[in-house]
Amino acid sequence: MNLYRGCTHNCVYCDGRSESYRVDGVFGEAVAVKTNAVEVLRRELKPIGRRAKLKPSYVMLGGGVGDSYQPVEEKYQLSRRTLQLLCEYRWPVHILTKSTLIERDLDIIEHINQQNRAIVSFSFSSTNDELSAVFEPHVPPPTERLKTLAFFKRNGIACGMFLLPVIPFITDTPEMIAEALRKAHEIGVDFVIFGGMTLKNGRQKEYFFSSLRDKHPELLARYEQIYEENKWGQATEEYYSTINSIFNEMSRKYKIARRIPPALYSNILSENDFVIVMLEHLDYFLRLEGKRSSFGYAAYAISKLNKPLSTVKNTLTEIKGVGGKTEKIILEILETKNSAYYNSLR
Ligand code: SF4
Repeated sequence: MNLYRGCTHNCVYCDGRSESYRVDGVFGEAVAVKTNAVEVLRRELKPIGRRAKLKPSYVMLGGGVGDSYQPVEEKYQLSRRTLQLLCEYRWPVHILTKSTLIERDLDIIEHINQQNRAIVSFSFSSTNDELSAVFEPHVPPPTERLKTLAFFKRNGIACGMFLLPVIPFITDTPEMIAEALRKAHEIGVDFVIFGGMTLKNGRQKEYFFSSLRDKHPELLARYEQIYEENKWGQATEEYYSTINSIFNEMSRKYKIARRIPPALYSNILSENDFVIVMLEHLDYFLRLEGKRSSFGYAAYAISKLNKPLSTVKNTLTEIKGVGGKTEKIILEILETKNSAYYNSLR
């Protein structure tokens, strides 16, 4: 859910700035507030008049185009009121933010966690306060964010670190990634989601490059090399596989889960969705090792299925992408909510 459009945190790399998201006004200054969001959500959650039941899942309170706990939240309290509503309707939530203001809502988050589950995640481009002051000028420094994560852990809430995006040639070095994972490990975060930066042509790229020209002009040529023309603003495959393998190695060193552990969603998702997520994770683990698999393809095919997998147990190999090995894994997941192969890779 994006409760706000625009974000005064104004991270230099923010892709919410890209024209493709159609955020009006000067990004970093203007914020549109969805003042009727809670009323609309209440209508959508009400079971009365609904043809099909809503699929069980986490509601992700995040903000691709605006942090849900940016300063304007103090006044409008949209995130707090949304959490109260989700608590009332007994929905599990996963919150992703960069703001320590979330501590204000511990009471509701604890309540949701007791009913089913709440996860609190923070995003970081590094855990270095000085670099953060340059690239995330209006966000609490990483040291404060880590303290808030530790605060939620102490209060029994599962926590994640989104080390995303790492900034090319600045926060993507083995030393910086290792430092972030070491700090995550010390706090005992439950998982770390890792990812590189995108730079879409237009507002996002121009804004980022103007800051880079100012702070690190020596890096411009290297950026031009890895960010070629690309609709999604992606860097080259080669670049992403280099940083992924650094992350892979460091996450093994610190024994950190690289995806949300199944125990945090096994009782929440439908059986098909649970299998889909585990297959997607398998695909990701193998890609981190530089290997290809058909698990992602099988997961996609299962997502198109309109019946529970347990009703087609004997014909699983008729699903596209599901061969003998995947069939065995699916059957094991359906029976035990676990997979020996998954455990060996994670
Ligand atoms: S906090 Fe998130 S949404 Fe806000 S500017 Fe930074 S990256 Fe963008």
